[in-house]
Amino acid sequence: MYDDDNAAALPQKPVRESPFTEKFEAFFRERCMKAIERLANNYPQKKSLFVDFVELEHFDFELADELLENPDECIAAAEKALSSVDVPTLSEDKFTPHVRFFNLPQERQPILRDIGAQNIGKLISVEGVVKQVTEVLPKLKFATYKCTRCEATYRIPQTKNIVRGPSFCAECKNRMFTLDEESSEFVDYQKIQVQEPLELLKGSEQATNLDIYFGDDLVNMISPGDRARVTGIIRLNPPKEKKVVYGRYLEALHVEETAREFEEVEITKEDEEVLMKLSSRDDIYELLVQSIAPHIYGHELMKEAIALQLFGGVKKTLPNDQTVRGNIHVLLVGDPGMAKSQLLKAVDQIAPKSIYVAGKTSTGAGLSATAVKDEFGEGGWTIKAGALVLASGGMAMVDEFDKI
Ligand SMILES: [Zn+2]
Repeated sequence: MYDDDNAAALPQKPVRESPFTEKFEAFFRERCMKAIERLANNYPQKKSLFVDFVELEHFDFELADELLENPDECIAAAEKALSSVDVPTLSEDKFTPHVRFFNLPQERQPILRDIGAQNIGKLISVEGVVKQVTEVLPKLKFATYKCTRCEATYRIPQTKNIVRGPSFCAECKNRMFTLDEESSEFVDYQKIQVQEPLELLKGSEQATNLDIYFGDDLVNMISPGDRARVTGIIRLNPPKEKKVVYGRYLEALHVEETAREFEEVEITKEDEEVLMKLSSRDDIYELLVQSIAPHIYGHELMKEAIALQLFGGVKKTLPNDQTVRGNIHVLLVGDPGMAKSQLLKAVDQIAPKSIYVAGKTSTGAGLSATAVKDEFGEGGWTIKAGALVLASGGMAMVDEFDKI
């Protein structure tokens, strides 16, 4: 009975030494001392030690495997190990940096739509285009609860999305508590949504989205329209009311910007041969023009314009260092029923990176970026990237331009 009473005040997980702490300590001492010393000199302005996964794998592949399968325990062990490495620090604060792993193996880099139940609680790395970003908001890290009867206080770590308090007071058995924000501890928090890179989609497939939560020193690292690779742990969002379908999100550990344009277009040996053969044909220009929406009869001029646009012009730099962009814009004007929309949709199918929007459902500002207050931002402002931003480096097609 007495033990039970005490349990209310203690963290709910049993405190035990993880078998991985020692292994991480050995790894840090042998491989990371330079980086740790550098970090200690800049702590707490810099708060994270970045660890290349490949390096850990070379040092201890069993530990590396364990990290992929059981990231929560391993990262806690790594952070404990790091804080016990003896380095001189300049600051008064206790040296408790984050350990952030990156550069996961290929099989841990699923595309967004392949993320499923098998990934829950595991360490993965995903790439996407940032669609929306919320403001930086304070999130409870340690909540201080005060007993309403005897004023005993309890400091409860908050690891889930729903706030958790003590079940009853160890001093007086009272079950009523008030949350004391003043003495609670908060951490910066930001939510972003990424979309599958458009060039990974075939034809008019729907792009998959994933919500990603950033904490502490990871906030404000990326903006809407950026392309980023994020390493983190897939977690569940409890359903609203009593449903059985859960939402999922990625808790970010590491983020890096990746700016690749058309690398994803795979050209095989056979493709190359066909391309080389085609390039030597005298009628290659006409052939390309005819290849635009071959199911639509006529409209050669429109098709030629689109073909030229798909290839793009040449970026020029003038003697006074001004640059002239090589991008070509095309405005299709014509009576209804002239296959304009059909042409756009055909281009959507063949362009390696493209986005199609209907003017009726968009606004001028919405094409570039908008700031909105909605559920995603949890009451704060969210910046959403528009079609033009998402299609950067590719084709943005706006149907019924006049309706905007
Ligand atoms: Zn009490």
